[in-house]
Formats: sequence, C-alpha cells, structure tokens
Amino acid sequence: MTIEKATVFVIRKVNFKDSDYVVTLFGRGSGKFAGIAKGARKLESKFGGVFDLLNMVEVVFYQSSGLDFISEAELIENWEGMRNSGEAIDAGLRSARMVNKLLEEGQREIKAYDLIEETLSSLDESQVRSRVVELSFYLKLFRHLGYQPQLMECSRCGRPVEDEDPIKFSPEAGGVVCTKCSTGNEFQISAGLRKVFVKLIRTPQSKVKRLKVTENQLQEGFTLLDRFGQFHFGQKLILRAGSSPEPL
Ligand SMILES: [Zn+2]
Repeated sequence: MTIEKATVFVIRKVNFKDSDYVVTLFGRGSGKFAGIAKGARKLESKFGGVFDLLNMVEVVFYQSSGLDFISEAELIENWEGMRNSGEAIDAGLRSARMVNKLLEEGQREIKAYDLIEETLSSLDESQVRSRVVELSFYLKLFRHLGYQPQLMECSRCGRPVEDEDPIKFSPEAGGVVCTKCSTGNEFQISAGLRKVFVKLIRTPQSKVKRLKVTENQLQEGFTLLDRFGQFHFGQKLILRAGSSPEPL
C-alpha cells in the first residue's frame, strides 16, 4: 500500500452512502482523481468543511480497489474573498466544473493546474470584473489542452486574415477564415473581439482585469468559446455569460 500526499483543488463533491463524500480532486502532480472521504458528512468529522468546492487542500491518501481512500485532509486556502461575492464564486465554480468536464480521470495537466490556481487567486484578491477572468480562463484552458482558436491566420489556407470587421470564424476549421476560403457557413466575430482574445492570451490571469473588454465583447466571447468548445470537445459546455453553475 503506497501512501501519497498531494496539494489539490476540490472540483466536485457528491454524497456517498450515509455519511461519506466522494470528491474529485485535481492536483499539480497527481492530476484529476476521485477519492472517498469516510464519515466526512458527520458533524463531528475530523474533515470539517475542508472539502468545500474550490478549496485548496493537502490530502493524504492511499490506493484502494477503485477509489482512493483519503485518510487526512488539511485546508490550505478557502478563498474567503471570492466567497463574499456571488459573481466571483460563480465564476470560480464554473471554471472548476470545466476542468472536471474536460479532463479525464488520471489526466495530469500542470498548466491547467497553475491556471486554475491563478484564476482563483485573482477572483479572491478582488471581486470586480470576474467574468473577464472567467472568459480568459476558458480561452487559456482550451489552449493548454491543445485547442486554441486560430486568430491571426486563416485556418484553411494559412494566409493572414486582415482586420476586416466582422471576421469570419469557423469552429470546424479551428478559427478565423479569410474571404477567399469562406464557404458561407462561418459565423462572424467582431475585429474587437479578436483583439481582446489576443490580449487575454498574452496577459497573465492576475492582470486580465485591467484589460478593456466591453459587455458586448464578453457576451460575444463566451458565445464563441461555447461553440468552439462544443465542436472540439464534443459535449455541451454551457459556458454562456451569466449562466448559473449547474450542480457539480
Ligand atoms: Zn483562407
């Protein structure tokens, strides 16, 4: 029996039996895995509220048949600032839900781990403009998973796509499409949104709040990533702005 220790985020939690939780955890080195916390729902449980969603926790666990058994858990960070704002906590919850949706059990993604940590830190530090942080999170997460929308060159012929407005965009082709390659089935994005996306990719999560992003660009950005993500990940992502997090 190997006993392991890891620093993880709690990205999903479901009740199990009478008094247990099955939690899905995401660690930098351990990747995404599920574990059982025996008796964690009892009032006098040694775990207390340590498994609240989004908490950063140090866990000690060991492999069992099927689920890992969590024997110890210590809270490192519960993001109190973020939890004071409905908008910030919703943005955090939707971000964690996306990690859970897009990563397989056992999948290790160090960049995605760092990204969720930076995102929660930013939401915790100040609760303004949470949706800009959230939009930027999806864009960067897709990128780390190998699905960055192509923004500057035509995704069919590779030639630069000029700053025409609007610009044609095809999720199937992987990004923007030039006039010559257009089949008429693309949808359109504003030149402003393309600029915003380029800036979001280049700017660390801790600083994206400072970027100028209009309400329209936010809406447009969420819709675009929703369609792009649905095509490439083959499932409904529901990351539209303002949507409540579905139960995790
Ligand atoms: Zn082209």
